[in-house]
Amino acid sequence: MRQRLAFVPLALFLLVGAGMFPVLSAQQPEQAPPTSPEAEQAAPQSPQQAAPQEPQPAAPQGYTLPPEKYEKAVAYSRASYRLYFIDFAYGLLILLVVLGLRWAPKFRDWAERASGRRFVQALVFVPLLFLATDLLGLPTSIYRQVLALRYEQSVQSWPSWFWDWTKAELIGLVISVILIWILYAVIRRSPTRWWFYFWLSSLPIILLLIFIAPVVIQPLFFKFEPLAKTQPALVEEVTKVVARGGLEIPPERMFEMKASEKLKAVNAYVTGFGASKRVVFWDTTLARMTQPQALFVFGHEMGHYVLGHIYRRLAFTAAVLLLFLYLGYRFLGRLLERWGGRWAVRGVDDWASLPALLMLMSIFGFFFSPVSNSFTRYHEHQADIYGLEVIHGIVPATNTTAAEAFQILGEINLADPNPSAFIKIWLYSHPPLNERIVFAQTYDPWAKGEKPQFVEGP
Ligand SMILES: [Zn+2]
Repeated sequence: MRQRLAFVPLALFLLVGAGMFPVLSAQQPEQAPPTSPEAEQAAPQSPQQAAPQEPQPAAPQGYTLPPEKYEKAVAYSRASYRLYFIDFAYGLLILLVVLGLRWAPKFRDWAERASGRRFVQALVFVPLLFLATDLLGLPTSIYRQVLALRYEQSVQSWPSWFWDWTKAELIGLVISVILIWILYAVIRRSPTRWWFYFWLSSLPIILLLIFIAPVVIQPLFFKFEPLAKTQPALVEEVTKVVARGGLEIPPERMFEMKASEKLKAVNAYVTGFGASKRVVFWDTTLARMTQPQALFVFGHEMGHYVLGHIYRRLAFTAAVLLLFLYLGYRFLGRLLERWGGRWAVRGVDDWASLPALLMLMSIFGFFFSPVSNSFTRYHEHQADIYGLEVIHGIVPATNTTAAEAFQILGEINLADPNPSAFIKIWLYSHPPLNERIVFAQTYDPWAKGEKPQFVEGP
């Protein structure tokens, strides 16, 4: 469901807002939640695959797959990684083409002819530019869905997929028109400090978007129901875990998402903040896991909630956005000095400079991804620790249960059994599954008489 939005602050917003903390790593940040195949075949295999049944620490087995599935997971992962890099390069190429063919100044001329009012100009210029770049970008978006269908991660029909694409475009357009109108208003008023003032004025908008995303935007793509209605027994167990963590998450903030209409993937996450903060379970997860396994997944999500990861990630995103805008300011002027004539861009305050700024943002985002991923990997590891601790004593054989839950996730989502160090550093928002399973199988502070890190108790 997450579409490519060229405007980086929007992409950042989506990163934070939508499906913020999926249980499993997305191999590509922009892809619809990472995901899954072979639901029917995977299920019976997973219990045997999982860790030894003995609570005694046997040698950890890690993440293991039968040969056929192994090949498939490797093939899917490689295709996804390739697509990620192709997508980045192709996105730059599109912006270069738009600049080189002088489409942006053409759109600007139309906009300026349409009206002298800046907002009306934004209303003409922004949709033209974004439709052009996103239509040119459609091949890679389509190919991503082709892969998802080929590797049985998606069950969505093409008409439904295109309708989702259209909806995402429309939402993106509305938000972009507003943000870009503000951006150029600020650039015209303050040619040297616009990066700071735009950052300041975009913050409340980004906060608002993150706040309303789970309530307004996500329901446009998926149906949600109260978990208490669909899984009353689970809610009861969840309430025990919540109490154990010394927290109050009322059942009204727990939802089941009907992912099964479009996806085979399993997932769960915490999203929104303040009054819109909520725990979301995909119905696919509940269909594929036992209750104790689902409780571990919940415990992990609750870790994000309790450990303040939403706010930390928000603060991080805001800081990164400020840095990128400052760098954008520093480089855009020079870029236009050198190439502005050839691209027919009058200056930084010309609407037509937007593709050049987007190009810079995209490059910064690309090279920054190892940093933001190491930040999220750290949070994910903390949440794994929390999940193990908070279900300890409530769920039997905590280590085995957690390892089984990961194994099921991995088999369905076709997680890469052995990503290279480079791929892990560049693309993984979560630790590789094998590391997580080995950790789940061996983490036992209680047996060693040590204090658990986050949750006191048995
Ligand atoms: Zn997580």
